[in-house]
Amino acid sequence: MNHHQMKFGTKAIHAGQEPDPTTGAVMTPIYQTSTFWQESPGKHKGYAYARGKNPTRTALEKCLAALEDAKHGLCFSSGMGATDAVIKLLVPGDEVITGNDLYGGTYRMFTKVFANYGIKFHFIDLSNPENIIPYINSKTKLLWVETPTNPTMQIVDIAGCAAIAKTHHITFAVDNTFASPYLQNPLHLGADIVMHSVTKYLGGHSDVIMGALLTSNDELHERLAFIHNSCGATPGPMDSFLVLRGLKTLHLRMKAHCENGIQVANFLKGHPMIEKVYWPGFTDHPNHDIAKKQMRGFGGMISIVLKDADMQKTFDIASAFKVFTLAESLGGVESLINHPATMTHASIPKEEREKAGVVDNLLRLSVGVEDIEDILADLKEVLG
Ligand SMILES: *Cc1c(COP(=O)(O)O)cnc(C)c1O
Repeated sequence: MNHHQMKFGTKAIHAGQEPDPTTGAVMTPIYQTSTFWQESPGKHKGYAYARGKNPTRTALEKCLAALEDAKHGLCFSSGMGATDAVIKLLVPGDEVITGNDLYGGTYRMFTKVFANYGIKFHFIDLSNPENIIPYINSKTKLLWVETPTNPTMQIVDIAGCAAIAKTHHITFAVDNTFASPYLQNPLHLGADIVMHSVTKYLGGHSDVIMGALLTSNDELHERLAFIHNSCGATPGPMDSFLVLRGLKTLHLRMKAHCENGIQVANFLKGHPMIEKVYWPGFTDHPNHDIAKKQMRGFGGMISIVLKDADMQKTFDIASAFKVFTLAESLGGVESLINHPATMTHASIPKEEREKAGVVDNLLRLSVGVEDIEDILADLKEVLG
């Protein structure tokens, strides 16, 4: 059976993976080698040097491509490494349109690294795709979108953006980290490239840093693969193995994250200690209808703004949980809590941050897959 015909969970377990041809090992071996034997110069079994290609990584790239229904997949040594490769498609003078509440590290790379190379970035409100149009000119080469956004869970209409990008011949890339391919497939909605921080839901166990790019466009893939091998942000075989293992339960984990997410969001909404809850599953979320259309569930990422809490009180609350661990990152089996203003989003200037709603009394929850009774008891214990 071709993996394109399989359902999601079957792909997560099997795509790209065959019993090992030399031993019959059912699990893809960790090919811990930097180089491969050549019978005569250039005559090898498809693998020459492991920066370019390694069989453990190839299995993972095929599996991730299958999960996004993409023709091609590339794995990077981090999500930032993957984003870096996409920006390297550009040349000085080119312009990028992107959202104004991006992941902090992406904002930092765009403004502190690539702006110095003569690439211009427009950070705009993407709640309506029409907002893009005034920023388009002959130099616009890339539209970079994150949805749901981090940490305020704003929803960007992927199909709406794709239509505009197509009309103006702009490459359209979506950071699909927060939704995961279980909940959303941007290529189906017209995106050209999907980027993942594999570190998060895909790896799922908070033990690997990795990124990925998926595309069905042969030309884009060739250019990205060239950058991948030339610039060298490629992951090792052990990390590739850990992600292959994590992926085997992606569908089961995501189902549990979504179920727990619904209960936590509803518990927090209207709680007397809380001023605001950001979660795309609420019918009064400004882009709930688009979320419902492009996502198959709302995931486990929820942000809250505490009522009348200064920095100290916010810190005290963030540190008081027992089931939620205070830490950066998200998407693992364990529940995490994060203070974006001083942790994940500290590299964004305060004024920019607050414009995007990332205030000092905002906390971001990554709801894990522990028993919901224990998660709710932890929230009740701390919030009352
Ligand atoms: C974590 C994250 C990244 C960066 O990925 P790394 O694997 O940490 O390099 C990019 N985008 C989003 C939305 C993220 O959450």
